[in-house]
Amino acid sequence: MALDIANRVRASLASFEPYDPAFTPCRINLSANENTREMPDGMLEQLKGAVAVVEFNRYPDPLANNLRDVLAARHGVERANIIVGNGGDELLFNTLFAFGGPGHSVVTAPPDFAEYANFAAQTETPVVQVWRDADTFALDADALVAAAKEAALVILTSPNNPTGGLVDQVLVGRLLGETNALILIDEAYVEFAGEDASVASWVPSNPRLIVLRTLSKAFGMAGLRVGYLVADPDVVAELSAVRQIYSVDVYAQAAAEVAVKAREQYAPIVADIRSERERLFGALAELDKVMAWPSSANFLLVRVPNAARVRQRLRDDYSILVRDFSAAPGLADCLRITVGTREENDAVLDALAALVGEDA
Ligand SMILES: *Cc1c(COP(=O)(O)O)cnc(C)c1O
Repeated sequence: MALDIANRVRASLASFEPYDPAFTPCRINLSANENTREMPDGMLEQLKGAVAVVEFNRYPDPLANNLRDVLAARHGVERANIIVGNGGDELLFNTLFAFGGPGHSVVTAPPDFAEYANFAAQTETPVVQVWRDADTFALDADALVAAAKEAALVILTSPNNPTGGLVDQVLVGRLLGETNALILIDEAYVEFAGEDASVASWVPSNPRLIVLRTLSKAFGMAGLRVGYLVADPDVVAELSAVRQIYSVDVYAQAAAEVAVKAREQYAPIVADIRSERERLFGALAELDKVMAWPSSANFLLVRVPNAARVRQRLRDDYSILVRDFSAAPGLADCLRITVGTREENDAVLDALAALVGEDA
């Protein structure tokens, strides 16, 4: 007898399917906004040294207090302002779990990170979508402020995934000044925009501001699963109370401490990715029938005719993996290309030129 699982599962979860990163092993993988560079010199040895002395028979420090101290020093805040999670994703889920739910709506600005809508649905949080401009992906500031006045939480991504643009800091100021909602700014990619682009330093004087950061992108440690929030101590305390106790393991804590302490060493890598981004953007703009949006992150959103087919041929004929957004609302014929190494970027440019040339 079949289990009839759809009738047993919690109603709000019945339509969920396992996340499909659409991963196929390829020669060049520019699909998930990972950092494809080598680590800074000596970093791998330092990381190995740190994890080698970890006692894996012991439970981790639930709150990762040593790592919190390193992160607090890095941001010039207190330990009480930092909470660490199993990737930024866990913290996004927990934020909706804690502050969302029936009657506590969240405002989002799609097209944006698909996880917001997923986590909202899983936590039964109503979503108010304030769509971006269909052509430029600019935010509608007045509509966002109006919606935020009725909401528990606002989530804006800066730079936005997958469209690449920053949130105007004037808008963040308005949301804090004119509404009573919690304002979460997801800064997963902010290192690629420059430190001035971050509002993390606003947290101590703005208790409703929550800033999300991760080691998955600029630090090149997506496999480690470490993200954190900079937030008011009361927000951190509430999230600490509802989290999975041991979600950040001993290796992740030890390795993240090493990487964050050495963060200056990542600056040349980030600078190089930024300059490759501009080179790739310029070269894409030269291509017939391809349009690209300016980006402050480590990826570019492009529009090409027959995008789904182009993505498939990049994969099958050139062994280059990029992300297909062409079926996502507001992103017709869009592909997202992570900025890779110079050689990877040249390969994707040559392949794209060939494919649009022959009308893939
Ligand atoms: C990658 C990403 C995150 C966090 O990813 P983790 O690997 O879970 O830390 C958060 N927000 C956006 C928009 C992202 O693209």
